[in-house]
Amino acid sequence: MLLYPTRFQTARTGNKFLDYYAPHDVFHPGVDFNWGLTRNADKGQPIFAPTWGIVEYVSPVGTNGGLGNYLVIKHPGLAVWTRYLHMDSITVNAGGRVAPGQTIGFLGDTGTVSAHLHMEVLNYKGLAFIRDARRPYGGYPVGVAKDEVAAMFVDPMKFIGENDHVPLELPQTEAGWAIILRATARMLKRLGFTRKDEIQRRLQRKIERLRN
Ligand SMILES: [Zn+2]
Repeated sequence: MLLYPTRFQTARTGNKFLDYYAPHDVFHPGVDFNWGLTRNADKGQPIFAPTWGIVEYVSPVGTNGGLGNYLVIKHPGLAVWTRYLHMDSITVNAGGRVAPGQTIGFLGDTGTVSAHLHMEVLNYKGLAFIRDARRPYGGYPVGVAKDEVAAMFVDPMKFIGENDHVPLELPQTEAGWAIILRATARMLKRLGFTRKDEIQRRLQRKIERLRN
């Protein structure tokens, strides 16, 4: 199980796992995290290690062919690696250990046009692929067939459960609150609350807790 890598628990719409993204000719090999509100509102938000791991690679600072500043963490317990693209800055060093919830850097827009965190989960085939690229750990599956991408990358949301381990960053706008409300209502339904008045009551309580 992985924690959310950001304080906000929403993946950006439009760039879901394996969605074809024509401008880059790529089946999107991860998920994108941001509030999705304004262009750079999320820049500077902390990015958290989703579980125990060892930092395997830290990129040089730069656009790095569209990947921006990026980072690869090895998770021996899960037999997967996680990769984080477009970071504003990275605060861990290669070879260092990370703990769940530890800040590993800050969200940015390096190598891209709008601030978001692109996160991937790779299996050993994915690791071989990114290592095999011309740039160390920078392989991005441009032009690779969908089934081949699916054999190397795992949907991060399969590992990320509902949790309260990372505190929510409170949204600054009504649109941000609407995202929280929708996500919370969905969670309540999954937990078995079906009565509208009961959902309303619990939503109200959650919001009061968050706002205080
Ligand atoms: Zn992405």
